[in-house]
Amino acid sequence: MMWLSACVLALAAWPAAAGTYTQTKYPIVLVHGIFGFDNIGPVEYFYGIPSALRADGAKVYLVQVSAANSHEVRGEQLLTQVKQILAATGAAKVNLMGHSQGSPTSRYVASVRPDLIASVTSVDGVNKGSAVADVALHVAPPGTVSNAALVTVANGFSSIVNFLSGGSGLPQNSLAATTSLSTAGTAKFNLAHPEGVPTTACGEGAYTARGVAYYSWGGAKSYTNVLDILDPFMALTSLAFGGAKNDGLVSTCSQRLGKVIRADYAMNHMDVVNQTVGLVNLFETNPVTVFRAQANRLKNAGL
Ligand code: CA
Repeated sequence: MMWLSACVLALAAWPAAAGTYTQTKYPIVLVHGIFGFDNIGPVEYFYGIPSALRADGAKVYLVQVSAANSHEVRGEQLLTQVKQILAATGAAKVNLMGHSQGSPTSRYVASVRPDLIASVTSVDGVNKGSAVADVALHVAPPGTVSNAALVTVANGFSSIVNFLSGGSGLPQNSLAATTSLSTAGTAKFNLAHPEGVPTTACGEGAYTARGVAYYSWGGAKSYTNVLDILDPFMALTSLAFGGAKNDGLVSTCSQRLGKVIRADYAMNHMDVVNQTVGLVNLFETNPVTVFRAQANRLKNAGL
């Protein structure tokens, strides 16, 4: 009889236990990078990720900010949408997960309104600039990239942007975006918004700053799947880094923020958001799994 009761209890507990792995205390807000949405749509940007997080209990929100603009302009747009999400849900805070420029965009909001943010997770975030932006602005340090590489990097970059971007009705400013994403532009931004940023060249940052928890993870391989149309372009833009480990668009050292979960997944800049449409490295952990694990980490941290 006791055995039977235990069995019934176990069965009764199973569905609840299976459905709470990603059940964070605060809603999760996914913040996109520099690309627009006309071709891929705001939901599909994080391909299959919102549904995978929601399946085990997370409340997940997508936002849309300018595809191309400065960290500050995008950050103000995000702040407005965070306030709307808080009003709609009654939650006291949100967890931000930002891809690419979505990381400094999220960091801006956490810096100016830390009371509204539980955590920031940088996913292949441009936290110390991108050599690709430096090349696009013609400010790459002399000798770091050959002239031939400069041309291929520029062509690769414009091809990726053209493939993924489109007008969204929001103000777009490509020069402001590129300047913000350059090494010098991001260094200037970091002076005003230093929370979580490593003070060493390639270390970890503060795990918590002004009550906000900071995390990061990212990839270190530009070419990962022969079927993905973006991979050849990632291989071209990766030439901007002169041999430093990168994901095709951001160096692994620039990706680091707060507690570094991993910065060496065999994934490129778009693999980490499960693009293009799920074409990722078959020999690496699936990025959706990494998002779920991070939600579980936030849950276990009481966030
Ligand atoms: Ca891919």
